[in-house]
Amino acid sequence: MARYSDAVCRLCRREGTKLFLKGDRCFSPKCGIDRRGYPPGQHGQGRARFSDYGVQLREKQKVKRMYGLLEKQFASTMHRATRLKGRAGENLLILLERRLDNVVFRMGFATSRAEARQLVRHGHFLVNGCRASIPSMMLKPGAQVTIVEKSRKVARIVGALETLEGRSVPQWLETDKDAFRGTVKSMPSREDITMPIQEQLIVELYSR
Ligand code: SF4
Repeated sequence: MARYSDAVCRLCRREGTKLFLKGDRCFSPKCGIDRRGYPPGQHGQGRARFSDYGVQLREKQKVKRMYGLLEKQFASTMHRATRLKGRAGENLLILLERRLDNVVFRMGFATSRAEARQLVRHGHFLVNGCRASIPSMMLKPGAQVTIVEKSRKVARIVGALETLEGRSVPQWLETDKDAFRGTVKSMPSREDITMPIQEQLIVELYSR
């Protein structure tokens, strides 16, 4: 499947905000946004003016890149969000949060969503006791995510668990580091998503 394979710090610089795509590096002075806080490319330091459409497009691209989705996946998640009860924008963010790769990242078993996605694809996790290797799998309250016994010594998982204290696990999740297990306690709410996202702009973009 097609995936973005260029330098991911360019994506943060394009959106003008930290998207936290590179794990611990995002918190170090090496962060691309801290070193070169302007858009990439030859005209990156020029003056940028956005139309209404441009503002909506940038917001959509930001969220899409933050969660590591491709256009088609993002559009189908948006479509699903509009068919659910409640506000489409909030539904969209909640659907994105409930993805298995995001939950693995939020539980602290990986240092970035991209890493979580790869670990899931490589079959390092069980969901409710069954091997789960689909990053887009939606988790419900009560779901238990466990690290496969053989995978508990995988360097990247060990590294992520070592730095777990420095990161906060959202209140809708619970991580038991010693048992190599996490639990989805409840559905995420809009307040649990603390990144600066204006989801209404995305809804407006898709309703054009
Ligand atoms: Fe973005 Fe992380 Fe790169 Fe900083 S280090 S620009 S937050 S991906």
